Amino acid sequence: MLQQTQVKTVIPYFLRFVNKIKTLERLSQTNEKQILKYWEGLGYYRRARNLLVTSKILVKEKNSILPKTLIDIKKLPGVGDYTGNALLGLVYNQPRIALDGNVKRIFSRLINKRENKINFENFVKKNKSKLFVSGRNADFVEAIMEFGSLVCKPQDPHCNICTLRNFCKFKKSNKKNKLTSPANFNKKNYNIFCYINKNKQIGLTNKNNLGFLKNFNLPIVKEKKDSIKIKNWNFLCNYKNSISNKTLNIDLYYKFSHKIPKGLNWYSLYDKKEFIPTFNKKIFRRLENLY
Ligand code: SF4
Repeated sequence: MLQQTQVKTVIPYFLRFVNKIKTLERLSQTNEKQILKYWEGLGYYRRARNLLVTSKILVKEKNSILPKTLIDIKKLPGVGDYTGNALLGLVYNQPRIALDGNVKRIFSRLINKRENKINFENFVKKNKSKLFVSGRNADFVEAIMEFGSLVCKPQDPHCNICTLRNFCKFKKSNKKNKLTSPANFNKKNYNIFCYINKNKQIGLTNKNNLGFLKNFNLPIVKEKKDSIKIKNWNFLCNYKNSISNKTLNIDLYYKFSHKIPKGLNWYSLYDKKEFIPTFNKKIFRRLENLY
């Protein structure tokens, strides 16, 4: 759940999830529809699917035990270097760090060097004896990520109360904020085009280009190009939709039609049987006002 999503966002979803599914074995017996329902609202649904497949692999093939090496753990679906290192550090106390944006920022400030000029894997290897405390590596992995989000923040680091200030070259250099990249927020502008009909149905396609909702049935979503004029569509509204670390600035358009183009199928705006991503629910609510 924490892949590309902040802890404070995840907490309520995590609690709801573990309230429904309490053991790895129970998770492995769940089906995709159920798990998507429990995951609903958190986004990046591929993670839920990967989690389900992983649970089945662990229970059936690994005696319900998470692999202990990076090579083996990366064979699980959705686990790359970042997640593999995080899991091995947190679960098995191994001297590993998940090199996320927070951690990279701290290291780059400590040595006062731009992030793109640092080989972080080498940096960790070289400084292993200074970074890790035997027996408390899991605490360290967790602490350094929190430290980046609470103290050594992207825009306004709390250098005056920072326990590292005497070692920090960035602080000493007094070049406040020169090395910091702006908050890692991805702002994207989209136009969404909805075919609707008199029966309160909407045309959806699963050939959408939104990576984080891949394979879901969505209306036609297009990244906004300023130069393109929108003809023959009715503008309904503009709204913002935050998904994880992305802010989507959306212009919503609609068109009444009894025919829809190839590749789209009609779905009821009120169908509650199927799992519907929050992304669609927000669109549906706005379209319902047209009837
Ligand atoms: S002194 Fe400031 S820049 Fe350096 S690690 Fe601490 S918070 Fe970050």
